[in-house]
Amino acid sequence: MSETLENLSSETRQFPPPAELAANANVTAEAYEQAGADRLAFWATQAERLVWAKKWDQVLDWSNPPFAKWFVGGELNIAYNCVDRHVEAGNGDKVAIHWEGEPGDSRTVTYSELLTSVSQAANTLTDLGVVAGDRVMIYLPMIPEAAVAMLACARIGATHSVVFGGFSVDALATRIQDAAAKVVITADGGYRRGKPSALKPTVDEAVARTESIEHVLVVRRTGQDVAWTEKDKWWHETVEQAGTTHDAQPFDAEHPLFILYTSGTTGKPKGILHTTGGYLTQTSYTHHAVFDLKPETDVYWCTADIGWVTGHSYIVYGPLSNGATQVMYEGTPDTPDRGRFWQIVDKYKVSILYTAPTLIRTMMKWGDDIPAKYDLSSLRVLGSVGEPINPEAWMWYREHVGRERTPIVDTWWQTETGAIMISPLPGVTATKPGSAMTALPGISSDVVDDQAQSVPDGGGGFLVLREPWPSMLRTIWGDDKRFLETYWSRFGAGSGSSSTEWIYFAGDGAKKDEDGALWLLGRVDDVMLVSGHNISTTEVESALVSHPSVAEAAVVGATDPTTGQAIVAFTIPRGNVETEGEAGEALIQELRNHVSKTLGPIAKPRQIMLVAELPKTRSGKIMRRLLRDVAEKRSLGDVTTLQDSTVMDLISSGMNTAK
Ligand code: ATP
Ligand code: MG
Repeated sequence: MSETLENLSSETRQFPPPAELAANANVTAEAYEQAGADRLAFWATQAERLVWAKKWDQVLDWSNPPFAKWFVGGELNIAYNCVDRHVEAGNGDKVAIHWEGEPGDSRTVTYSELLTSVSQAANTLTDLGVVAGDRVMIYLPMIPEAAVAMLACARIGATHSVVFGGFSVDALATRIQDAAAKVVITADGGYRRGKPSALKPTVDEAVARTESIEHVLVVRRTGQDVAWTEKDKWWHETVEQAGTTHDAQPFDAEHPLFILYTSGTTGKPKGILHTTGGYLTQTSYTHHAVFDLKPETDVYWCTADIGWVTGHSYIVYGPLSNGATQVMYEGTPDTPDRGRFWQIVDKYKVSILYTAPTLIRTMMKWGDDIPAKYDLSSLRVLGSVGEPINPEAWMWYREHVGRERTPIVDTWWQTETGAIMISPLPGVTATKPGSAMTALPGISSDVVDDQAQSVPDGGGGFLVLREPWPSMLRTIWGDDKRFLETYWSRFGAGSGSSSTEWIYFAGDGAKKDEDGALWLLGRVDDVMLVSGHNISTTEVESALVSHPSVAEAAVVGATDPTTGQAIVAFTIPRGNVETEGEAGEALIQELRNHVSKTLGPIAKPRQIMLVAELPKTRSGKIMRRLLRDVAEKRSLGDVTTLQDSTVMDLISSGMNTAK
């Protein structure tokens, strides 16, 4: 980006928090004042929400930036904080997990039962020779054992690395190798789209291709046939037979908790390392603050997979540290039909729902009549994460899911940040559709220009973090150099207000509106330069989605002889829209004009393609770099994290026949 991003769209709708929620909110506006007055004291107060075996001597050691140490000298056990202490407090019979299998089977796991299972798994891992500091791979479907496995690792100080259960042999093998893992925890398979989908064969091949794995623990989920090697052990013959008590030892606040590879939206995934005390402090606090969780009455549901950071921070560590009752769902949103999510909300009386824009836009495409059939009156807070949420998708979520009653929290964060960084607070913030609003208390975000100078309200540029935060990544596993280069070199040390200021650059563009609210504008690598104007993909996509015929859109800049780059849009129409022949041609012209009218003629797409699907990562994010390859008629870059490779063939063939 040579200059700052231009600010094309404007949004005037605003929704204050519901009065009752505001009056009873866990966190009020005072939190911003406290954190503003003394950031480190604020985080120390939040750390006190946890049980520490030994208190820290220093909140933050930033003497060797950008390598941070939080809660130096402190010791705690994460599993104790997520499980044991709730049982000790008399909440052992409380439901921790309402698990819903895709075929319709279900299980209820109380905090006492969770404690037993985690203790058994910890004993089994110890029997298998796993000691603190060893790495354990987890490659499981969305079953309670996934949470149990993670907590068991944390309990004995083993560093887990969860790999999404849909990833290929290649993806699993490279991660096993990179982490030099000793054990893999997997299952025979899981249910997806109405049928069992095998996991074990992928593990067998990945283990054969790598050197480090000594044991494979296998959960029986589907009952399908599996090949067996001498490294394999059934979970039900080991864990479920193991001793049911386990004494949790405390670990240093900076003990490595997990390595998680990023989604791979922009290229080869990076092994992000998170540690113990700061990570749990911030995931626990943000879950309490952003979702206003009342552990006695709320039923919380995060629809993410455990293989993504959202599953780590907001299915396992945040909610369980807060003693939440939550729903965990194994399968896809359209099995057996497109009402499945709403049926689950209704069945368990879910009160807090946390999902992704990709799902909201898919539901928009499927039609308003589907959620309308269900009782969604239990919902009181809705969350969004993963991509910028287009204002129209936000409005749809508010209207058709929240029934105009519930606040929406659009939460910006990354695998690297470990926990939510920018988000409204549901009892405090008057939200604007499509805006993540402001940094949370204790977080120092900013939008800056090329020279690391803050842009004024109304301006756009690079989203950065100016101060370290408790759940920040500590490094890229085994590659400090890449860590420095990837996140800390854009503005360099000393490029801020003093020589000790280190600025973390997240890779995303953002703008501040006239009120100072933050709008995420997508990756800066995706920003388009059209006739000398820097235009964000997000704004053009949101303009397209604001047309009633459009459910989803992805926009890229393709080389153009006259304008430098020209805007090419790939657009998914809503379910009931006619797209064949002349109707399709007319719609395309209408959409080009609609964008021009909404954002100005500079943003008018040169070309619009109507498509049925978009290329997405396994975590549901649009992979614009592949669409850019198509638009510029190049061969495709790395497709290993792509959800469905046939999508690209369809889009490419459509592109070749388009005028
Ligand atoms: P990779 O780094 O390998 O390309 P990734 O960035 O998609 O993958 P994640 O850490 O899962 O991996 O995603 C973080 C990114 O997701 C953010 O940098 C941002 O681009 C996007 N994102 C997440 N939440 C939001 C949000 N609420 N609004 C806008 N963008 C968001
Ligand atoms: Mg990223």
